[in-house]
Amino acid sequence: MTKKPQARTAVATAAAPAAIVRKLTLEQKVRLLSGASFWTTAEAPGVPSAFLADGPHGVRRLAPDVGDIEGAVPATCFPPAVALGSTFDVDLVRRVGEAVADEAKQRGIDVVLGPGINIKRSPLCGRNFEYVSEDPLLAGEIGAALVTGIQSGGVATSLKHFAANNQETERMRVSADMDERTLREIYLRGFQRVVTKARPATLMSSYNRINGTHTGEDRRITTDILRGEWGFEGLVMSDWGAVHDRVAGIHAGLDLEMPAAGEGRVKELVAAVGSGTLDVADVDRSATRVVALALAAQAAREKTADGGMPPLAERGHDPEAWHDADHHALAREAASRAVVLLKNAGGLLPLAPRTRVAVIGELARTPRYQGSGSSQIVPTRLDDALAAIQGASPDVVFAPGYGQTSGNDLAADAVTAVRDAGVVLFFAGLPQSAEAEGRDRVDIELPAVQLELLDRVLEVNPRVVVVLSNGSVVRLSGFADRVPVIVEGWLLGQAGGGALADVLYGRVNPSGRLAETVPLRIEDTPAWTSFPGTGLHVTYGEGIYVGYRWYDARDLDVPFPFGHGLSYTTFAYSGLGASTGSTNGKGSSGTVGLTVRVTVTNTGGVAGREVVQCYVSLPGSPVPRAPRALAAFAVVYLAPGESREVELSVARDDLAYWDVQADRWRVEGGTYRVAVGASSRDIRATADAEVPSDGVVPPLTAASSLGEAMAHPVIGRTVTGMLQGAGLSDDVMIMTSAMPLDRLPYQPGSGVTHKQVQQLLDVANGTGGVVTRAAGKVLGLASRLRRPR
Ligand code: BGC
Repeated sequence: MTKKPQARTAVATAAAPAAIVRKLTLEQKVRLLSGASFWTTAEAPGVPSAFLADGPHGVRRLAPDVGDIEGAVPATCFPPAVALGSTFDVDLVRRVGEAVADEAKQRGIDVVLGPGINIKRSPLCGRNFEYVSEDPLLAGEIGAALVTGIQSGGVATSLKHFAANNQETERMRVSADMDERTLREIYLRGFQRVVTKARPATLMSSYNRINGTHTGEDRRITTDILRGEWGFEGLVMSDWGAVHDRVAGIHAGLDLEMPAAGEGRVKELVAAVGSGTLDVADVDRSATRVVALALAAQAAREKTADGGMPPLAERGHDPEAWHDADHHALAREAASRAVVLLKNAGGLLPLAPRTRVAVIGELARTPRYQGSGSSQIVPTRLDDALAAIQGASPDVVFAPGYGQTSGNDLAADAVTAVRDAGVVLFFAGLPQSAEAEGRDRVDIELPAVQLELLDRVLEVNPRVVVVLSNGSVVRLSGFADRVPVIVEGWLLGQAGGGALADVLYGRVNPSGRLAETVPLRIEDTPAWTSFPGTGLHVTYGEGIYVGYRWYDARDLDVPFPFGHGLSYTTFAYSGLGASTGSTNGKGSSGTVGLTVRVTVTNTGGVAGREVVQCYVSLPGSPVPRAPRALAAFAVVYLAPGESREVELSVARDDLAYWDVQADRWRVEGGTYRVAVGASSRDIRATADAEVPSDGVVPPLTAASSLGEAMAHPVIGRTVTGMLQGAGLSDDVMIMTSAMPLDRLPYQPGSGVTHKQVQQLLDVANGTGGVVTRAAGKVLGLASRLRRPR
């Protein structure tokens, strides 16, 4: 899917930075390990400062010591992550990334602080608008595309928030408690994908703890997994103000503390080296990474004619001075591709220009186009849907219908306005205060004032198109079966108004797909019983069953499933074939696990894009698995009547699960079910494919059970045969198989010695012995167990 990054400009080689660091004093070195201001890294002899700025749906350039949005230099506000995720289109997202890099350079920004790819564990997370999806593969693909796009322009990124920052409540203290499999398969997997595919120059550690340890102080996560397993070579910075124990953080691999931490920190770290609690080698290593980032930034700046401060100073804060028509057009294209047509009964859409339209709702005139918090930027321009609709049709009436809170008089006017309209465009959505960084949502309801108005409008005119503006899912089940059309418009960035009109009038055929399930009710959602935790701990008890994995495993009804989205045309699927990819037996990164081919035909009357989705499962696996997991997707554009064969490649790594006992990824051998379709619950064709096991045999230990010995590939058949041959009753066989091997010597009269158990293990693990001799002792045990006790 995502192509290899063209340039790795943002990652410098370690040689030169190390030489620079060698010449620095200890104080100069530790000074580099914290910011110099809110947004800049520290300087040292031969080391320039780098400028960091928030994003990533546009850049938020502030003065170095200012944190407030008011002072931000305008920038194109592209659709936030919630919308980019819905495009399912990595090429488009990469183009957005390239544009963001251009704007970053013009504003003197070296590192864009994003993308955020945390998993949407609950719709209640107040920051979901900044995140991509409930699915790690999609979050990873979209995140990788954005990183690749931005970094190809010579600007670094900071993939965040690493990791398991899935709520805002107590975000700086809460511990996300989960088992290793859940951590690996859901909460780290997207990060792993972006790191290995797109090589972000930096990562930002999260505020929260995982299983009790702050992520920035967790050496296993920040160094062993990130660098040791995934090969990350860049720099890890803290989230702003996330540092608790700086010495522990440096040891763990948290290179840079942001923002500036003051002179006290410098003294503390010099003293820690003096007292031996901080290893100077760790200081050197982190300082080298800061220097590498700063030098790479400097080199990239030098290559760019329009980089650096001068244009910033000349243009000031006037949005028009920064307006870039091409970028605005790209923002509109991306926004139109993010719109998800949830329902279109009676073919009410697309609208004919002559249709008399009543536009209802303040949100049509005053759009919500991004979320609030650190990602918020000052746009260069702002389109509203009302103006765009008025531009598309000569016959439009408008009534705001509701204000931010109440709107009785406004409602009466709206009801009058819809009376003789051919179609009502009812704009509904969440106010800014409902979802924001720093606080979680309390429910998933639309404001009551809007819902009451909708009821009144429906009584007068049922030809209603509900157009939504929200950064995270809202409950639609209260009216979904009473309105013919629902358009999910998310938060679409500064050109969202025009983009909505493009879709409503059919200038763009919608192709957005849900990157998060719309649940029937909040009580159905996977984290409902544990979110947001108590006593500063939140238990991820649902395990790997997040998002659609949960609804599918529980067989719960959902009004609009993951991957869903309609088009103005229809697509047919045929000729599905799935074949096993080549394997080197190690499941190494990049090895193809499955190659899936399917022919898609546009069977309707207009050109359109289909998002072909491939889900994989392994029916009958002894390992609990999601009934379906997204394994690949592709966007295909087809003219009416056109057919195309789409090839999807499923990496072998994406078939793997985390084996807790073996403490590693494993690909089970077996017959995999490949399901291809237009959503997670609109599967159009299935095929089976044999996938060979990766041959990983978990070592048999003294704590393994007799049952595990029976299932063991080396000794299993012999042990099983012998036990069966001993004529045990089924009940005794079941009880016996649960017994750990190291319990055998303690069974009354078993006669099995510890040495014999060890011999059995040696045979199984290939460390010596002969199968029949060792297993023979087990046979002896089995015949004794047969005796009545
Ligand atoms: C946010 C980060 C952001 C940083 C700098 C933090 O509060 O969590 O996402 O990049 O502030 O503004």
